[in-house]
Amino acid sequence: MGSITLHKVEKWFGELQVIKGVDLEIGDGEFVIFVGPSGCGKSTLLRLISGLEEASHGQVFINGEDVTSRLPSERKLSMVFQSYALYPHMSVGENMGFGLKTAGAPRAEIRQKVAEAARILKLEDYLDRKPKALSGGQRQRVAIGRAITREPVGFLFDEPLSNLDAALRVEMRFEIAKLHETLGTTMIYVTHDQVEAMTLADKIVVLDFGVIKQVGTPRDLYEKPDNLFVAQFIGSPK
Ligand code: ADP
Ligand code: MG
Repeated sequence: MGSITLHKVEKWFGELQVIKGVDLEIGDGEFVIFVGPSGCGKSTLLRLISGLEEASHGQVFINGEDVTSRLPSERKLSMVFQSYALYPHMSVGENMGFGLKTAGAPRAEIRQKVAEAARILKLEDYLDRKPKALSGGQRQRVAIGRAITREPVGFLFDEPLSNLDAALRVEMRFEIAKLHETLGTTMIYVTHDQVEAMTLADKIVVLDFGVIKQVGTPRDLYEKPDNLFVAQFIGSPK
């Protein structure tokens, strides 16, 4: 289960209001994309969901439970960043199991969950290597693997592919779509790449200056944009 609800969420940094009263419903298992121009608040909204930032006003619910003041570790969500943030001195397997280890999971359980994640991500042959001996795409898979072993109720991706070259981006996009199919877990994915948004999303949330301009399927946004901003941003002929 991984439904996420935002109720009148606001975020202020001092005098600057970055998120301006956002209401949003994300259903269990949905693949939701946040798009919008640079600086519009995509990362901040994701961080408010993960708990890395606390809302100034409003509430965040996960599976109907109010988690607004809970720490990230209490929200059962896994965040995948663009800067892979792997531990260089640990092997791939150790990196993938690290979250479980710090949570005190037994070794046998860690080994089993790492093996399962490695199978899904085709990293079985790389478990003993160090991150520096991997390609960019493989490293990004390890970061995703680390998120999987924690068995989150939702994955949060913040522009995970923006450091990769174009060909690898297309390949990883396909892999993330497959991962969603395999796991069926709720995913929220931030990108400024319209193609990524249109191909991955069940639902796209278009943001501008901390306000939701429209929520809809890729087709809705393309065929029936609510306003000129969405039409221009999505690149619809209207
Ligand atoms: P996006 O991810 O869409 O590019 P962000 O959520 O990173 O946008 O940022 C939205 C706005 O909030 C920007 O104007 C940014 O400068 C500001 N901002 C983000 N984090 C902070 C912070 N910790 N302190 C002050 N301003 C911030
Ligand atoms: Mg951002």
